[in-house]
Amino acid sequence: METNIETKCLHAGWTPTNGQPRQVPIFQSTTFKYDSSDDMGALFDLEANGYFYSRLQNPTNDFVAAKLTEMEGGYAGMLTSSGQAANFYAVFNICECGDHFISSSSIYGGTFNLFGVTMKKMGIECTFVDQNLPYEELAKYIKPNTKCIFGETITNPTCNVLDFEKFSKLAHDHGIPLIVDNTFATPVNCNPLKLGADIVTHSTTKYIDGHGSAVGGAIIDSGNFDWLKYADKFPGLTTPDESYHGLTYAKKFGKAAYITKATSQLMRDFGSIQAPQQAYYIQLGLESLHVRMQRHCENAQKIAEFLEGNEKVAWVNYPGLKSSPSYELAQKYCPKGTCGVLCFAVKGDRAAANKFMDNLKLVTIATHVADSKTLILHPASHTHRQLTDEQLIEAGVAPDLMRFSVGLENADDIIADIQQALDLI
Ligand SMILES: *Cc1c(COP(=O)(O)O)cnc(C)c1O
Repeated sequence: METNIETKCLHAGWTPTNGQPRQVPIFQSTTFKYDSSDDMGALFDLEANGYFYSRLQNPTNDFVAAKLTEMEGGYAGMLTSSGQAANFYAVFNICECGDHFISSSSIYGGTFNLFGVTMKKMGIECTFVDQNLPYEELAKYIKPNTKCIFGETITNPTCNVLDFEKFSKLAHDHGIPLIVDNTFATPVNCNPLKLGADIVTHSTTKYIDGHGSAVGGAIIDSGNFDWLKYADKFPGLTTPDESYHGLTYAKKFGKAAYITKATSQLMRDFGSIQAPQQAYYIQLGLESLHVRMQRHCENAQKIAEFLEGNEKVAWVNYPGLKSSPSYELAQKYCPKGTCGVLCFAVKGDRAAANKFMDNLKLVTIATHVADSKTLILHPASHTHRQLTDEQLIEAGVAPDLMRFSVGLENADDIIADIQQALDLI
């Protein structure tokens, strides 16, 4: 039965049969039992479906991944131990030493470092681009060894919305997939796979868990990208894998090739699996995600409007404000709302920003974002404190920018806290 996203939050992924638990069971087991040596052998040859060791796959994880996959409108999905692992696997699954890929420069700082520093050490080069450039300018960065394009639905921390039409055209005109990190919008407010993206990633640590309790990630593949059509570009999927007796993923698994390779090769070798207990927390979070996202967006809209009208505030960016450069894109791609994160600056220098934050009583200073409780972070003083003002601007983060993650409290209480903290500067 085709259902709406709210119903999928509750029912997708796990369908108990007669007498089975209503809630997703936690398979707290590293290993699985088989009757014969041949039964087990078939699993190792990828000839049969099944579980043998929880470093690669676990049923609890797969039920939760199946729910997320259905919510995103994807074909296959997997959970990873963190959002970082998800983004690494998503790119590394199709990029090898000597390859190149393109990423928007407006992305989460951890991903920026992963792509620009750590993956560079593996011989994979990333070019960071200004996502506001026109198509023709962006196309100039594509090289013969470019293997994918990466962006975020709503950028962390700058709160801008990706132009899906431009980026999916750019990727597909050049025979490469578009990978989109959908962490901030969540599958409730945006489905990148329905807007031209090929692969979606998540840090489930954020809204999906929603309660600041479990680090995790996910990758969901649309199954739509035709690897065999561009076989020369993607040898990892289109030529025999010697570590599985020479099977070829794209030929043997069709639409499931990408996730099968990431599971049976990358998860086998790197082991960044999510613990089944963590997957269970994510499952709990997903059940109420649609209700929480609606409230996060309502609260953020009220707070953005309050900030916009305050004389001590230098600027505010929230895609739900008409003044936001992303307003039109948000209306087009996230008509139900974007997320609860906004950014703004108080007038004055870094000291004024620090004073403002120290004055807050209800709002917590934290390195976390997209949580049930309202959180604030000043990248120039915290996550990006090693950077000079010039370097910050280069990374797309204004030195005065404060990232404000609006929680589920009563909006009037959050506003009252901001007001009293502003009054003191
Ligand atoms: C937090 C975050 C990540 C990294 O996720 P972790 O679960 O912390 O590893 C990746 N992308 C975005 C957009 C994030 O906000």
